[in-house]
Amino acid sequence: MGGMIFDTHCHGYWKGLGDRQAEVRRNMLEAGVLRSVQIGADYASSLDALALARDWGEQTWCTAGLHPTDCQDCAPESVPGWMEKLGELARRNRDKVVGIGETGLDYYHLKPGREEAGKRVQRVFFAAQAELARRLDLALVIHTRDASADMLALMRTLPIGRAVIHCYSQDPDFARALMELPGEIYFSFSGVLTYKNARSVQQTARELPLDRILVETDAPFLPPQSVRNRVSVNEPAFTRHVLEFLQTLRDEPAGEVERAVWDNSNRAFRIPGQPAP
Ligand SMILES: [Zn+2]
Repeated sequence: MGGMIFDTHCHGYWKGLGDRQAEVRRNMLEAGVLRSVQIGADYASSLDALALARDWGEQTWCTAGLHPTDCQDCAPESVPGWMEKLGELARRNRDKVVGIGETGLDYYHLKPGREEAGKRVQRVFFAAQAELARRLDLALVIHTRDASADMLALMRTLPIGRAVIHCYSQDPDFARALMELPGEIYFSFSGVLTYKNARSVQQTARELPLDRILVETDAPFLPPQSVRNRVSVNEPAFTRHVLEFLQTLRDEPAGEVERAVWDNSNRAFRIPGQPAP
């Protein structure tokens, strides 16, 4: 099976994937999934993502970041120290680190009784990572769940350069509002796009300009519909299922969609050796 498919968001170091890397990589190549960005979710996993990007060689990159659910127990005063560490990791590994994140807002996973404090800390960490991404000229990888209004309000005030809304799960209105912001914003669709109850996500994927669309797995989470009842662990190879589903939603010829999404992915992360727009 040929293909030029780019999994723009996965966690290949995670339990269930990291312990069977040879097989995971073989499956990717067979499915035409040639490139991936390994995503950090806290400092330790950012190091894991970097190690994987080095192990897997030329076709693999990574990000460094602090996920909103992981930082809500941190003190806001610890932010400068964390940014120092993330920034240093990114600067020392310029050839591999192509983004800051995943960061963002997750109001679904708040601690009972500490909701407002949790939201506040998430906002502080998100703002700091947005500024770091801008300063280092890296893509900002955004996770947003049950927090669209606050996310929009924050993105309107922050210095957003290039950003990827990962695992897009909202309706077309949210995408339209984001499209009005000045930054270079991309929308990455995961296995969620293929789910039966995801009509408004599918509508968003139909409406967006093709040059803003990416695909991802978020592996090991969220297997696409077509494999959901036979596997519990998602893997980068299944990016192909997301792309194929996207192709059924779009009016453009399938080959054109595949080519555009590949080009978008390289552009969004300014993959070395790829021309900037
Ligand atoms: Zn993720």
